[in-house]
Amino acid sequence: MSSDKVKTEPSCADASDPLSLTVEQARAAIRRKLIQIDDTQQVPIRSARGRFLAEDVVSPFDVPSHTNSAMDGYALKGTALPKLGSAQYRVIATALAGQTVEQVCGADECVRIMTGAPMPPGADTVVMQEQVESVGDQRIRIDARHRPGQNVRMAGEDIAAGSRVFTRGRKLSAADLGVLASLGFAELRVVRRPRVAFFSTGDELRSIGEVLGEGEIFDSNRYSLDAMLRESGVEILDLGVVRDDPIALQQAFETASRTADLVITSGGVSVGEADYTKQILSQAGEMDFWMLAMKPGRPLTFGRLDQALFFGLPGNPVAVMLTFQQFVRPALQMLAGGNWPVPLVVKACAKTALKKRPGRFEFVRGILSYDPQGQLVVGPSGAQGSGILTSMSRANCYILLDEACGGVEPGEQVSVEPFSTDL
Ligand code: AMP
Ligand code: MG
Repeated sequence: MSSDKVKTEPSCADASDPLSLTVEQARAAIRRKLIQIDDTQQVPIRSARGRFLAEDVVSPFDVPSHTNSAMDGYALKGTALPKLGSAQYRVIATALAGQTVEQVCGADECVRIMTGAPMPPGADTVVMQEQVESVGDQRIRIDARHRPGQNVRMAGEDIAAGSRVFTRGRKLSAADLGVLASLGFAELRVVRRPRVAFFSTGDELRSIGEVLGEGEIFDSNRYSLDAMLRESGVEILDLGVVRDDPIALQQAFETASRTADLVITSGGVSVGEADYTKQILSQAGEMDFWMLAMKPGRPLTFGRLDQALFFGLPGNPVAVMLTFQQFVRPALQMLAGGNWPVPLVVKACAKTALKKRPGRFEFVRGILSYDPQGQLVVGPSGAQGSGILTSMSRANCYILLDEACGGVEPGEQVSVEPFSTDL
């Protein structure tokens, strides 16, 4: 393209025009516009996985609630342990988990104790069963290698009564739910799930099950979007395919923004003749149209439609997935009460050369694996055209080539964002 061509809008073909936003700038702009949902609901703990806490959780009691034994063995007074040689003790009782022992442990006495049983009065130390010698009926011998206070779990050592266990906005994991169950919570107050409405735009699109006419293609974006939305744990409203027709689009925008916290469209955000999204959004709401200094995923429309946040994703199937992952998914997490997530990025050795010119951020679909020496290595998962979805489906990571990068030589260390922690 000749550099003296008069431009009225940034062009997709222009690698590093000054009007392009960097990936970081786009993230910051989205965060600025985002208003978190403040509706909350009470849910049973079994349904709370992946939800966001709407309030801090304070522990109603100590965990463990009583000082107890960490081992099967014998409980005794730490001061009565032999300093040298060994000493004998009379077994005065047995302490089982879930029961309390009344007898007070004297200096030459001990209590047979099971893991989790409350410590008997007078005892503060447990000697493991395997380190005790039985010497006749109800008598044991212990040698001098023990430390007062050993093998005992103190009341409140995990969680002290009155302490804050989780803060508002916490995304609840399986371990979190275990902790909350140990505190006796049957229900939790969480933020209502975001409602997301989405539709595809394009006269060439047919839904699966329909017959393809000349020049028509199946709509794949709605299916990849649906799957990614399900993973995000949001409520989904699928509005189907909308024609490249301003009236039909306007109606779809209205329906979507009436019902949803966030609206996603795909297609129609370039500068082509049938690209109406920007026009309608700027009339009906607030629009920011961006050319992003990234590849794939260059044009992105972002804004508000009444109360709903709006993302007009590009049409190309790979760009849809990438822009969803990089911008929409984090926005949904924040909308739902959480933080903007920071993805895991690891270093790996490039298996092949990667061509690139400085100026924009490139997300190369890659395959990350271990080589026979146990080193992380990575290479492209196939052709990188933004319509080539099979290389996305083969990929398990993005190779991150930032704005400054001017290409990669084989053997160089590159930054990689894995799609999951399983390889
Ligand atoms: P557009 O931004 O509308 O010009 O679309 C860019 C490219 O993505 C075109 O080749 C479209 O046919 C294709 N495309 C748009 N929407 C979809 C969709 N929902 N599923 C598959 N391909 C699409
Ligand atoms: Mg289109």
